[in-house]
Amino acid sequence: MAELSLKHIDKVYDNNVQAVFDFNLEIKDKEFIVFVGPSGCGKSTTLRMIAGLEDITAGEFYIDGKLMNDIEPKDRDIAMVFQSYALYPHMSVYDNMAFGLQLRKTPKEEIDKRVREAAKILEIEPYLDRKPKALSGGQRQRVALGRAIVRNAKVFLMDEPLSNLDAKLRVQMRSEIIKLHERIGATSIYVTHDQTEAMTMADRIVVMKGGYIQQIGAPKEIYNNP
Ligand code: ADP
Ligand code: ADP
Repeated sequence: MAELSLKHIDKVYDNNVQAVFDFNLEIKDKEFIVFVGPSGCGKSTTLRMIAGLEDITAGEFYIDGKLMNDIEPKDRDIAMVFQSYALYPHMSVYDNMAFGLQLRKTPKEEIDKRVREAAKILEIEPYLDRKPKALSGGQRQRVALGRAIVRNAKVFLMDEPLSNLDAKLRVQMRSEIIKLHERIGATSIYVTHDQTEAMTMADRIVVMKGGYIQQIGAPKEIYNNP
């Protein structure tokens, strides 16, 4: 399980830009949370602090009661998918998905099992031997999702993962990501500037503006009281 607790989180970048102000949020196990708001409102910064890719300037972040502030990204039970899925072009789909586990010295048989399981869930089994350039945009994004879920992490972070896809595929992938979230049993946070995406995907939405949380609630609560 994974319950996340963010208490009075601030982020001030080195250039003295304060990107996040007093961010407070309790996330329940297996919730699907969406951070939504205009570009520059602090969504990515918050997500990156949770992943450990940015230092937390002030406040505390806990997973299951354990303080995470000084824990290295690789020692956090977290997987992350980015907007630019940045697959290694010279590697096969299989190797792209296996790479992170190889770095962590996971036994070969275990890697094979997890890559094949993930490929099956994401319906990319037929493409395991292909290079990324021989895939469509949607298939590439599935590989990026697969590369994240093979870690079996209990926290799943996604930063605008669908924004490079065309409108039709984006709609289709929304429900696929929800199914994936349920299947892997993770606690998920999804960042988007798209209100429809937030409304259709979230258990709870966190609306951000100018580095502050403006509203937190279920989609109905948010969009009936704008
Ligand atoms: P988005 O708005 O989609 O989150 P941006 O285009 O604002 O992304 O930022 C892309 C990258 O540039 C991120 O890694 C972000 O941390 C970095 N970045 C954004 N703004 C600044 C800035 N003022 N100075 C330095 N780096 C920045
Ligand atoms: P969002 O994800 O909502 O688009 P970000 O978290 O990327 O917002 O950015 C929040 C604010 O922090 C913006 O003003 C952005 O320019 C600034 N920012 C982001 N990354 C950096 C960085 N690496 N250095 C300095 N400022 C940054």
